[in-house]
Amino acid sequence: MLFSHPEFDHHEHLSFFCDAETGLKSIIAIHNTSRGPALGGCRMYPYATDEEAVRDVLRLSRGMTYKSALANLDLGGGKSVIIGDSRKHKTEALLEAMGRHLESLGGHYIAAEDSGTSVSDLKIMGRQTRHVAGIASRPGFDGTPSNGDPSPVTAYGTFIGLKAAVKHRFGSSDLTGLKVAIQGVGNVGFRLARHLKQAGAELWVTDIHTDNLQRAVEELGATAVSSSDILTLPVDVVAPCAMGAVLNDHSIPALKASIVAGAANNLLDRPEHDEALKRRGVLYAPDFAINAGGIIDVFYERTGGSPDNVRAHVETIGDTLTEIFERSERTGLPTGTIANELAEERFKKHAAGAGLAPQRLTCTG
Ligand code: NAD
Repeated sequence: MLFSHPEFDHHEHLSFFCDAETGLKSIIAIHNTSRGPALGGCRMYPYATDEEAVRDVLRLSRGMTYKSALANLDLGGGKSVIIGDSRKHKTEALLEAMGRHLESLGGHYIAAEDSGTSVSDLKIMGRQTRHVAGIASRPGFDGTPSNGDPSPVTAYGTFIGLKAAVKHRFGSSDLTGLKVAIQGVGNVGFRLARHLKQAGAELWVTDIHTDNLQRAVEELGATAVSSSDILTLPVDVVAPCAMGAVLNDHSIPALKASIVAGAANNLLDRPEHDEALKRRGVLYAPDFAINAGGIIDVFYERTGGSPDNVRAHVETIGDTLTEIFERSERTGLPTGTIANELAEERFKKHAAGAGLAPQRLTCTG
């Protein structure tokens, strides 16, 4: 039963869609629209069971409510999943059918790319609906052209957040000589490394993709280390930018850095690892606070904001993190718990009279 599902958490709306002709089976979950229309990625994944797909979409959708509220965006939280193998089952007809599913919700949910979908897939869905995002070519926030890829903005936001953590811990945001270990130098991690290098930091990097690793070594003078060593190096900051659940029973006791600040989603293996980091004296920049640059970028694409609007908003990530760190110190609660509380304050404040109201859908043009 869905209403009693452990991950249900007061979702406003769930929509199941099946298109026999194209084989599309999709679910759209809208967690909360009190701040605005729900925006989140459309993931295509070969879930082993329907239950797995439901669990994933519910968790991801709720996470988007928290991320957007914490970033002070007029957006709600939602997510969609397509059940299937993106390498085998993705066809133009299936993506167009997904576009019809999106259209049927009239803009209450807006889809962006996620694992298993690309900007070109979103453009195909866009033949059937306006409610897709992250696909427009426009000037990027740093002056270079953007094709809709949010990674440069995510990397800049992570850099700003990392600086706020350094300022809080060491009393200065001068990064000269700061030692940083980066796990994963892909789209976000490499750009973060470049910002850090320009600010005078010393870098240690790892990646399972040797081309990416080589690029960081050659272009940025970073020191390559093995994947198994990266989290336990004697550095000031560890920046996980590859995959989730890396802060766990095994890694936390072995950390030598006093700050963890990276872009990867769902860094904590279990909720109690938030407290475990605090007990170890590690300042943790909650992932959904520090990696909000991408959703900020997509929001301004939808609302027609300028590159300067994007930059100014992304820079508020530093203020939000400082507020989290200070409140954590005052209350003794770990930073992840504080980030959740702050996000709830920000979306519950808007709740009265809101939620799936058409007049709130100001961002679907
Ligand atoms: P990416 O795939 O471009 O980069 C990830 C890199 O990590 C790749 O180079 C990959 O080879 C490497 N990697 C994977 N497993 C590894 C391992 N075990 N050890 C070392 N390296 C490993 O992805 P990305 O877009 O840079 O995103 C990185 C993380 O940030 C992801 O968790 C993503 O969900 C999160 N994130 C990204 C964005 C964005 O705008 N791209 C926004 C928010 C959050």
